[in-house]
Amino acid sequence: MNNSAYLKIRRTRKLAHARANSVPRDLMNALNVVQWLDGETLGSGNVASGRGFSATMRDYESMWGRSTVVTDARVAHDRAGESLFDRRPWYHATCSAMIINPTARKMLLTLHHKYHTWQQFGGHPDGEQAPILTAHREALEESGLSDLKFFPTPIDVDIHDAECPLGCSNKHIDVCFAATTTSLEARVSPESDALRWVTIEEAAEMDATDRVLLLGLLSFGLAGIQV
Ligand SMILES: [Zn+2]
Repeated sequence: MNNSAYLKIRRTRKLAHARANSVPRDLMNALNVVQWLDGETLGSGNVASGRGFSATMRDYESMWGRSTVVTDARVAHDRAGESLFDRRPWYHATCSAMIINPTARKMLLTLHHKYHTWQQFGGHPDGEQAPILTAHREALEESGLSDLKFFPTPIDVDIHDAECPLGCSNKHIDVCFAATTTSLEARVSPESDALRWVTIEEAAEMDATDRVLLLGLLSFGLAGIQV
């Protein structure tokens, strides 16, 4: 592994450990018995499993602690209302999923058709107001993996620059979930130029961002896998 990839992994491992250490011990114990939601439940649009944006933000902070990013996301939601879930406001929501295969200790990255970077799967809600349902739809459409199971609480909320459409400057509020599969048989959709199953080390070599590495580390951690 080259030096910059090694340093990148070291940095993101520290972040992942800091994030995991922020979870109260009793909650961490409870997480061991949390059921991952299966795709069938999510795909049916089950309201109980598809919590709305505000409830999802509460879930996130209950698990990971207070977050200034979530505060900013709430302000954007208060201002935009339901239009947070379409593409019009300067700040608008996207939802994503980091798919891992715990047995293979690999995560599935997509070479994004528009941005030409290796990322987790994700996209715009286009009106859907339950982030986990959007994350599931996007992950299913873009990977073809039908056995996905989702951890019900997001693993990350991130606000970053975006171009929607290309050339226009705006901000994405991305809510990311962890998902597992037992398969390695993903298929490429029109949204991707390629898909690749990779270890954390291979992702760092491919110059995946710190956030992508962090999402991978957190997803493996929640699945009880040390990588
Ligand atoms: Zn957008």
